[in-house]
Amino acid sequence: MQNYLTPNFSFAPMIPERAQGSRVWDSEGREYIDLAGGIAVNALGHSHPALIEALTEQAQKLWHVSNIYTTTPAQALAKKLTEATFADKVFFCNSGAEANEAALKLARKYAHDHFDDSKSEIIACINGFHGRTLFTVSVGGQPKYSRDFAPLPPAITHVPYNNTAALEAAVGPQTCAVIIEPVQGESGVLPAEQAFLEAARRACDAHHALLIFDEVQTGMGRTGKLFAYQHYGVVPDILTSAKALGSGFPIGAMLTTDKAAASFGPGTHGSTFGGNPLACAVAGRAFDLINRPNTLQHAEEQGSKLQQALTTLGRETGVFQEVRGMGMLIGCVLSAQYAGRAGELVQLALQQGLMILMAGADVVRLAPSLLLSDEDMQEGLARLNKALQNWQ
Ligand SMILES: *Cc1c(COP(=O)(O)O)cnc(C)c1O
Repeated sequence: MQNYLTPNFSFAPMIPERAQGSRVWDSEGREYIDLAGGIAVNALGHSHPALIEALTEQAQKLWHVSNIYTTTPAQALAKKLTEATFADKVFFCNSGAEANEAALKLARKYAHDHFDDSKSEIIACINGFHGRTLFTVSVGGQPKYSRDFAPLPPAITHVPYNNTAALEAAVGPQTCAVIIEPVQGESGVLPAEQAFLEAARRACDAHHALLIFDEVQTGMGRTGKLFAYQHYGVVPDILTSAKALGSGFPIGAMLTTDKAAASFGPGTHGSTFGGNPLACAVAGRAFDLINRPNTLQHAEEQGSKLQQALTTLGRETGVFQEVRGMGMLIGCVLSAQYAGRAGELVQLALQQGLMILMAGADVVRLAPSLLLSDEDMQEGLARLNKALQNWQ
């Protein structure tokens, strides 16, 4: 097939056409088990009837009105998000990068409002990922994604993830924000250590900096709690969400306190589509389905079953040296013999009818539906086993 899209993606050699739950069918009618979840987006699987209902109901009512107006679905979703978290206020946008862009701009403005213009440094982590806008790609700690787009925004410092001493040394009076993923997703599914997040909180408090948790990947039930920070009991000043927030419909959100939100006065920031009623209606319904003890417990239980099965498979085949993660966000670290070849395994799995992801060249990532059934899990594992058996 002729590709009319810019060549920044290397597309798989099949075209997904329809899907249901954790199964996807391509344009030739071949079936796949989806353990990739649209990169941690399809938290409720595909074509969930309640989401279809929320979308079609809203489609009959109101699609878009501009952000001169607020809407019932936007207020309802913001109410749910604030009642379930530390936050008092929500800014809606359309993606994870936009949520982080808003968070970083708010942190700079908050510091300038309350202190002075020199308080503008952002501390971020090596190998972190925060999106693809120029600001977020610069704050992200993977130079391969940013260096070709120089000159980059200044006053950004990177410290090694989980290195408490480096973080403490970097934060000072010049710091306006520290941004951390509670589990580094894109770069290998690496959970934060408790002490690291606690140190970040302490350092931010000591220097009047805002602590931002990027939960674009870890949020909305992915780790077995609504947000990953709730595992740690370390509370940020700003939290960003996207990916599973709309469970397949594009939406992003930045959650924050009343105190910080006050710096986003009228006219300071905006988004044409942010808070779109269709997106908010779907996300509102998704929220109700995800933020239930049943769903979160299922995610936690299925996640640990999957981790155990992958650990066994890794041991038997010698392909994985470690399986790590939280809940339904799982990284299988390739053993030395297979290092750098995660992309190959993703392709081999696809040939066996299994959708999985990479997270850097050394880690194979799974981010399936939180509702994954035992049957789909077993079938997915069987197909992965076949792919591993064929791997030279
Ligand atoms: C995916 C991701 C982003 C970027 O989200 P987009 O919707 O692609 O802009 C930001 N941060 C984290 C942690 C992510 O996993």
